[in-house]
Amino acid sequence: MRAHQGLRIQTVSVSSPSGRAGLKPGDVIITVQGQPVEDELDFSYLCADRVLEIEIQRRGIRRRVSIERHWGELIGLDFFQHKAKQCTNRCIFCFIDQMPPGLRRSLYIKDEDYRYSFLNGNYLTLCATTDAELQRIVEQGISPLYISVHATDPAVRTGMLRNRFAGRIMTQLRQLEKGGIAFHAQIVVCPGYNDGSILRQTIRDLLRLRKGLRSCAVVPVGLTKYRSFSLQPVDRDLAVTICRMVEHVSDRDRLRCGSRRLFLADEFFMKAGLPLPGRAYYEDYPQIGNGVGLIRQLCDEWLRLRRLIRREPAAKGDRAGSRLPALVVTSKSAEPFLTKIVAAMSASSPYAAMAVLAVVNRFFGPAVTVSGLLTGGDVIRAVRETKQPWRRIILPASMINHRGYTLDGYSLARISVRLNMPVFMARSVRELFEYGRGRRLQTKGVL
Ligand code: SF4
Repeated sequence: MRAHQGLRIQTVSVSSPSGRAGLKPGDVIITVQGQPVEDELDFSYLCADRVLEIEIQRRGIRRRVSIERHWGELIGLDFFQHKAKQCTNRCIFCFIDQMPPGLRRSLYIKDEDYRYSFLNGNYLTLCATTDAELQRIVEQGISPLYISVHATDPAVRTGMLRNRFAGRIMTQLRQLEKGGIAFHAQIVVCPGYNDGSILRQTIRDLLRLRKGLRSCAVVPVGLTKYRSFSLQPVDRDLAVTICRMVEHVSDRDRLRCGSRRLFLADEFFMKAGLPLPGRAYYEDYPQIGNGVGLIRQLCDEWLRLRRLIRREPAAKGDRAGSRLPALVVTSKSAEPFLTKIVAAMSASSPYAAMAVLAVVNRFFGPAVTVSGLLTGGDVIRAVRETKQPWRRIILPASMINHRGYTLDGYSLARISVRLNMPVFMARSVRELFEYGRGRRLQTKGVL
């Protein structure tokens, strides 16, 4: 049984159907059309009709409100966020457990909530998902979900997630598939635990879910120097073996299904020293948030931009002059690709003098080589060590969160003050080129 505490309204648009019906901020919606409401998903699901009978609670008193709206008219309500359900696993590879103490609290939140999986694409393991919740997911068509599988062998999964409820994953996935729910999956490869035959079996089991499985990403485990559990990183030989096996299975599955469902994270190709697949491999990039196709997207974006730049006439009187170069900061893993792009940018415009700096991650340890986990402190130290006066510093957007802070709490302004240089964040290849060039691009085409 779900606990029905209702849904508290945060704001009401005055001219909306809710405003006209007299709903107010602070009211708690208890039922819609006689059905209990626990969260926004319930509310959206029950709000399909034009006339809604709603039971609310205001200052402890229950009352009924009727809302009438025109077809297509927005209901006009915003709600307070509900508390996310927390994960009860103790995964051997958990990145949150591998973080140092003292960072902001939000970084230690381990949510395991199918609502956030659906709304934000957060991965969940389904270990804490009850049968009633699975039923609700099916009833309300909460699809697609993002599910961390790691291993389908019950004993292996239970051991990796250190949760006695972890072994029923295939039953749960079949139940979801039968109910018409689609899902994206991920497998984090931990050498000695779920590589070799376990990985092959896991992939086989998942690909058998012809209707349910939309995509599956195979990702190498990320290890920081703060880990307490003894785990080995994926080395080059293992990366080569996994790349060959996964590519073979993925190609066969694509032929059978008509589209690719099994993908390798960019990091696997880099670790293996193998070339990245072409644009077509990634189809519509269903696993980009998992580091699948990020580098390819970057390279393709540059190729498209270069075509536009060639059509751009050079402005009269423009000279590169003797300007200091801009410094493009990146991580170890992106360095080879970014160096090529930046060299091509510098060659294609006399105004884009740029150099690349690959920052070693001292905060989490050198085994962490992705840009999204670079910290302000490491960047400041690395730039200072160059002992060069740079025209400006350009940081990857992935190291700054939506509030404008790095993992260790630096804002761009604070980094700029510490370095005594202008600091920018590039969200795209175009922005990178514009910051490097020191002026906006005038292009007619669209990227
Ligand atoms: S499910 Fe995710 S957050 Fe929870 S312990 Fe495992 S890795 Fe960590």
